Amino acid sequence: MERTLIVIKPDGVQRSLVGRLLQRFEDVGFKIVGMKMVWIDEDFAKKHYFDLAERRGEHVLNNMVNLMTEGPVVAIALEGVEAVENVRRIVGGTEPKSAAPGTIRGDFAHHSFAYTDSKDQGIRNLIHASGNSDEAKQELKLWFDEKELHSYKIDQEKHHGF
Ligand code: ADP
Repeated sequence: MERTLIVIKPDGVQRSLVGRLLQRFEDVGFKIVGMKMVWIDEDFAKKHYFDLAERRGEHVLNNMVNLMTEGPVVAIALEGVEAVENVRRIVGGTEPKSAAPGTIRGDFAHHSFAYTDSKDQGIRNLIHASGNSDEAKQELKLWFDEKELHSYKIDQEKHHGF
């Protein structure tokens, strides 16, 4: 049993996809243990993407800071079995063009890195999900106070063998 963070990015919120995206995680039995809408600032976006410049380059970080601060986002803490890996499977690959059909990024977007890079923009792939369990712990701490995360039972638990 594990907790992980997803963030519906400004493009997901502005396209009115919050309900449909969240439904996918509820459908497979994940439990929502925290949720809020926030409009983050540049400082917070840099904390969230603290190693992005190292991994993808300074220009990608700057573009993602612009994208993530252009409107409100919805941050959700999910709990379930091997949640980090399982949630990433549902989210799909970073580049929508190569994300598998059936995944969120494969089903709701199609842009390529080459296209967005040529326009000097961050790629709009709708949703963030923690990449590994250390990242999940750090990110949950950044986005949620202890008392904003809840322990409770959902009806589905007995059917999903929790
Ligand atoms: P992921 O979100 O799949 O874990 P990363 O953490 O590497 O991927 O990147 C963070 C976000 O930055 C991505 O979700 C995507 O929106 C954006 N991004 C990454 N690489 C590029 C790129 N080459 N061009 C434009 N945007 C990018």
